[in-house]
Amino acid sequence: MTWILLDHRFLLHRPDYPHPERPERLVAIEDALKESGALDRFTPLKPHAATDEELMLAHSESHLNIVKAASESAPTMLDPDTYVSKGSLDAARVAAGGLVEAVSSVCSTKDPNEVRALCLVRPPGHHATYDRPMGFCLFNNVAIGARFALRNLNLDKVAIVDLDVHHGNGTQDIFWGDPAVLFASLHQMPLYPGSGYPDERGAGDSGHILNIPLESGTGDSAYLDLFHEHVVPAIEAHRPELILVSLGLDGLDDDPLATLALTQNAFVEAIGKLMELAGEFCYGRLIVTLEGGYDLDAISAAIVAISQKLLR
Ligand SMILES: [Zn+2]
Repeated sequence: MTWILLDHRFLLHRPDYPHPERPERLVAIEDALKESGALDRFTPLKPHAATDEELMLAHSESHLNIVKAASESAPTMLDPDTYVSKGSLDAARVAAGGLVEAVSSVCSTKDPNEVRALCLVRPPGHHATYDRPMGFCLFNNVAIGARFALRNLNLDKVAIVDLDVHHGNGTQDIFWGDPAVLFASLHQMPLYPGSGYPDERGAGDSGHILNIPLESGTGDSAYLDLFHEHVVPAIEAHRPELILVSLGLDGLDDDPLATLALTQNAFVEAIGKLMELAGEFCYGRLIVTLEGGYDLDAISAAIVAISQKLLR
C-alpha cells in the first residue's frame, strides 16, 4: 500500500481574486483520482497541524510571526504573488504537519509496501526560505519533513529532488549550509524567482546543492537526459536514507505560468527512477509532495498517471 495525504483543510487557503494557486487544483485532482479508481488503492494519512516547534525545524521565529500576523489581518498579501486568507495559517500548518506525518510513517515501517507517500498539499512550500514566505508559499513543507527526518528520526542523509518548473530557492536557502541534504532542482531559466544557476552549489562550494537550468521549450527527452546524467549519479553518490520529491507540475506543456514542453511521461519516468533509487539506498522510502502546476486538466491527469506508478 502507498500512503496518500489529502485533507479538506487545504481548501481553506483561498484567494479572494483570480489567482492560479487556488483550491480548485486539489478538487480537480481528487475528482480525477476518484474517477480513475486510484484513490481507493491508497491508504489515507491523517495529518496534524504542525506545531510552532515543527515549523521552526526550517524557519525562523520571525518567519512564523510574519505569517501569524498576516493571518490575523487576512485577507492580505505578503508580496504581489502571495496571498493570506483567513484559513491560510490552518491550511499551511496541516500541509507542513502532513509532511511530518508522511516522514514518520514511511520511516517507521519495515514493510516494503508502506514506504511511499503522495502528499497533495496546499499551500505549496518550496519558495519559502528560512525567514521569508514568498512565491505562493507560506511554510516549506518538504524542508520541514526533511529536517524532521534528520533531527527527530536521526537519519543521517536525505535527498530532495525538485521537479517544479521554478527553482526551489527556499529549499536551497534552508539547506545551503547542511550537506546532510542533497538538493537537486531542474527548472526553467530565466524564470521566477531568478536563482538556480549551476554555480550555486552550497556553502563552501560543497556540491550538495545541484542546479540544472532548462531552456524554454525543453521536452521530455532532453529533460530526462539531464535527469539521468546529473540527478541520478548525485543521488547514488549521496546514498540518502529517504528521498523527498517536490513535485511541481508547472513544467507540463499546457501550464499557464511557464513554457517547458513536458508531458506527464517525463514525471512518471523520473519518479519511477527515484523509486528504483529509493529501493537501492533507502528501503524504498519515497515521499512525493505537490508544489506548483496550474492547468487543472493537465495536473489531474498527471497525478493519476504518477499514482499508478507509485501504487505498483
Ligand atoms: Zn512552480
